[in-house]
Amino acid sequence: AASTFEGPRKVLLAAPRGYCAGVDRAVIAVEKALETHGAPVYVRKEIVHNRHVVDTLTEKGVIFVEEAEEVPEGELLVFSAHGVSPAVKQSAAERNLETIDATCPLVTKVHREAVRFTTKDEYHILLIGHDGHEEVEGTFGHAPESTTIVNGPWEVDQIEVPDPDRLIWLSQTTLSVDEAMETVAKLRERFPNLQDPPSDDICYATSNRQAAIKKVAPQVDLVIVVGSANSSNSVRLKEVAEEYGAKRAERVDYANQVDEAWFEDAQTVGVTSGASVPEVLVQEVLRLLEEYGYGDVEEVVTAEEDIVFSLPKEVRKALKDAG
Ligand code: SF4
Repeated sequence: AASTFEGPRKVLLAAPRGYCAGVDRAVIAVEKALETHGAPVYVRKEIVHNRHVVDTLTEKGVIFVEEAEEVPEGELLVFSAHGVSPAVKQSAAERNLETIDATCPLVTKVHREAVRFTTKDEYHILLIGHDGHEEVEGTFGHAPESTTIVNGPWEVDQIEVPDPDRLIWLSQTTLSVDEAMETVAKLRERFPNLQDPPSDDICYATSNRQAAIKKVAPQVDLVIVVGSANSSNSVRLKEVAEEYGAKRAERVDYANQVDEAWFEDAQTVGVTSGASVPEVLVQEVLRLLEEYGYGDVEEVVTAEEDIVFSLPKEVRKALKDAG
């Protein structure tokens, strides 16, 4: 066995974990598009940030592209769960592409805020999020003239704003809750008149998954986060686990990336997964853990989730037309 620990070994399985309502909806939207439209279906960027999901859909006939310009005229293009800027929609329209917008409704909410606060209220937006992440690009693109991206508390001192009294903050949906609040606090120190948005943009799935791992982390020697390297919320789960006392935290895409050396002296192992991760990948990790002697699995439940989003309207229409 991998572990050098002699006593009883145990797994604490965080719940909620895995698929959120926005990811579930986006993946089903693409599957339904394959059924009703037939292959190929083009998807701009990864539909959700998970390797397994992207590879599986590729096998079924999805072609992933970086930009609408790569899609032949008249074909079907799906916009990913992370959302797109108006400029991307515009370029798809110019190519006469049929489109399905799989943007998560909770990201669309942030887009609407960006437009409303900069046009009607003439605020300048401080957008807390990771520069270069697709969701941040999409939100930024809704008010590019009136938005400044703030990656984290360390950037607060350097940013320049047009009017310190007309500022509001928004955020990416998948940040660390604690770090985002730290950034807001630092921003407010510098700009006391900074406005809060009517509700936080960090989504329920992100906060619930972080809350669950916060409860698990202090009780375990090792945390395994299932999720891809480009999945913001998965990477945050690993960081949160480390901050909340897990002796070690590791992220894997697949069970075969789990390293035996991690189990040295580990009595208890915590397991969770990001919002873009299918449960089958978690079950594979649990099977491996059982082989290593960690067959005793206790679920640590910190919230129940029952949010479901209806499919994108274009998909609902196609399903209806197909009878
Ligand atoms: Fe939507 Fe949150 Fe899931 Fe992103 S993580 S797709 S914002 S529910």
